[in-house]
Parts: sequence; structure tokens; C-alpha cells
Amino acid sequence: MNLKGLQYYNELFICAYCAYCVNNQASCPTYHSTLHEIVTGRGKLITARNLSQGLIDSEEGLDALRDGLFLCTFCGACQENCIVDIPLTKVYSELKTLVQDRLPKYTIRVFENLNKEHNIYGLDQEDRDIWSYDIEELYDEWVNLHHETGFFLGCVYSYSGRAGRGPTAVLKLAKMANEKISIFSPSEYCCGNPYLLGGQKEKAKEFAEHNISEIQRLGIKDLIISCAGCYRVFTEEYPQLTGKDLPFNVISHMKYMKDLIKAKKINLSNDSPFKVTYKDPCELGRHSGVYDVARELLLSLPGIENRELINNRDKALCCGSGGLIKVNHPEVANDIANRLITQIVEQEVDICVNACPSCLLNIDENIKMQGLEIKTIDIAELVLDRTNNT
Ligand code: SF4
Ligand code: SF4
Repeated sequence: MNLKGLQYYNELFICAYCAYCVNNQASCPTYHSTLHEIVTGRGKLITARNLSQGLIDSEEGLDALRDGLFLCTFCGACQENCIVDIPLTKVYSELKTLVQDRLPKYTIRVFENLNKEHNIYGLDQEDRDIWSYDIEELYDEWVNLHHETGFFLGCVYSYSGRAGRGPTAVLKLAKMANEKISIFSPSEYCCGNPYLLGGQKEKAKEFAEHNISEIQRLGIKDLIISCAGCYRVFTEEYPQLTGKDLPFNVISHMKYMKDLIKAKKINLSNDSPFKVTYKDPCELGRHSGVYDVARELLLSLPGIENRELINNRDKALCCGSGGLIKVNHPEVANDIANRLITQIVEQEVDICVNACPSCLLNIDENIKMQGLEIKTIDIAELVLDRTNNT
């Protein structure tokens, strides 16, 4: 099989087989759950290299490569630890283009949903405002508002009611601070991350161009994003997909809230004590380098003691929900979450604080399945709680 046209062809041959991508502090989460070498960085590179050299049957090799690629959470722990700095997640994205004729069933289902309704669930695009049921008046005031500050929600916050409390909290805080935020739920498309995770760059580009043009239509200069996946895709992938710098700034919702507090625009009067731990989302942390703002925000909240997980920042454990693995292999996703939950329990906290809706939902589901009493919330919900004005 000729793979010479691949942009990352040479990277297939520089792997040192050292296994730093397999066993490191953050560890390859799917390897630890499945013990299949094929899911690791090393396993995928060797398989692709063997395919390119005709050392394995191409049908069996491509099936194995597909399995390795779609059992990967895209957590980036392998890349962070690769001894020869192979840009592994980029290599995986390219290798996915080789297995388009044998995609996993539920990846195909997600693509069908995106093609039909522009969201991962295939739900009616007109219901994209479902998250805002608690702030109807505010929603009506701010939807399609021409304003310099805007908010992109993404599919998971928009449609999974539980997670929608995060963006709702940000908007309530903005209102308290006498700020305005433009929201454009009805015309948002998915950020395109699932297309990228499934190896369909052209479709992702189409979605990127649509979202950028909507943001420009409203004159937004600062775009708040609270989903870690959307944040990574806007900041890292959109410029590459479109060949242009973004015509607006992207800021995490944590920075937005931190700035409101610093400017004393919101009154934090609730100091009832809680012990919390912050889970670094992979796509915000390892992929995007956003670590400090979460700690600074938590430090500014009265009554809150932040206890770091044993694995934090670039060593953070994956929650198990990335890379479309939750739809294709939910049992693996749950097993990965439970390894993380063991560390959360060790910290003896009341609350696990999140800055990603996918982390929140997978951790919450597994905490509940274990019958634990730890609450799982978005960091914005915690800030709102400190105002005594929920
Ligand atoms: S991205 Fe994460 S799950 Fe995928 S191979 Fe690397 S360490 Fe393993
Ligand atoms: S850490 Fe890098 S060089 Fe070492 S086995 Fe993994 S992919 Fe190969």
C-alpha cells in the first residue's frame, strides 16, 4: 500500500519504539483499559509503517489501524511524552483518511447527523436553543444581538440539558455585571470536531466557514467558548482549515469570568466552604496549554479550596469521552472515567469542577453509577453559586 503521499509519511519511520507514549505519567488511557498495543501511538505508527512496506495484509492491516484510531480518545498524552516529538495527534488525523471505507458504525451515524442537522445528535437544529429554558428573557434579549462579545456554545452544551447549566451561568453572571453577550444558537453549526476526529477535513472546513461568517455577521470581536473541544478546534484547527487567522479573539469562559471578578463587576458573597478539584480537559490543557486561568479563578472564589488531582495539568488523566470513543466504545470510555474518579475520590472533595461538557457528562454518569456523592458541575456554576444569586 503506497502511503508516500501522506504529509506525515516520514514520521512513521522515526518512532524509536521506546513506549514513552504507552507508559508515562498520564499514560495512554485506552491502552490501560484494553491492553491492546494497536491503540497506542507506537502501535498505530508500526501498523501504518508495515502497511506501507507491504509487510502485512492490507485489508487486515487497515482494519487493525481503524480499530486503533477509533479506540483513541485524542487525549494527547502520547504526544506530550513522545521521546522524538512526533506530532502524533496530527498523524492520527491523517491516518484516519485511509480508513474512510471502513469507519465504525457510530462514527458514520454521527456524520449522518451532522450532514442532516449540523449537530452531533441529529436533533432538530431549531431546538438548538433548548439549553436556554432557564433564561428565556435574557435569551430573547441577546440572541442575534450585534455586539463585540459573543458566545459559541457547541452541540453538547446546547442539547444535553444538564450540561447547559454552564453557559446559562455565564450569561447570568454577565447580566449581573451589566455586560451584554451576543448569542447565535439558531445559526450555530457544530464546531466540526467530530468530522476532524473522523478524518473528514473538507466537511469540517465547511462548518468552520459557516461559523466564522455568522460570528462576523454579528460583529463579534471577542468570542467566549466554554467547551474544551470547540476551543481547540477554533484556535488550532480553524486557521489551518481556512488558511487564515481568525478575524476575532477566542477566550475561555474561565478567563471571561476571572476578568469580571477582577474588575469587581460581580459580587461574590457566598463563602460557604467547599472542597473542590478541577479536572483539566485534554483539549483545553494538553492541546491548548490553558492551565493557569482555572486555578486563578478558583483561588478568587470565597470559601473554595481547590485540591489538585495527583495527575494534573499536562499529566492529567483523560475522562474517557473524547475522540468519538464514547459513541463507539462506551465500556472503554466508562473504564477510563473510573480510573480518573479513583483520583477524584482520593482528594476527598465535595465537587469535581469541569470546563468541558463532555468531561462533565462522562464523569457525572460514572460517579452516579458508582453511587458516590461527589457533585459534578461546570466551573461557571460554581462561580454563580458564589454570588448567592442562582
Ligand atoms: S491520544 Fe490518548 S488515547 Fe490516543 S493513543 Fe495517545 S495517549 Fe492513547
Ligand atoms: S514515544 Fe514516540 S518514539 Fe517512543 S514509541 Fe511512542 S511514538 Fe514511538
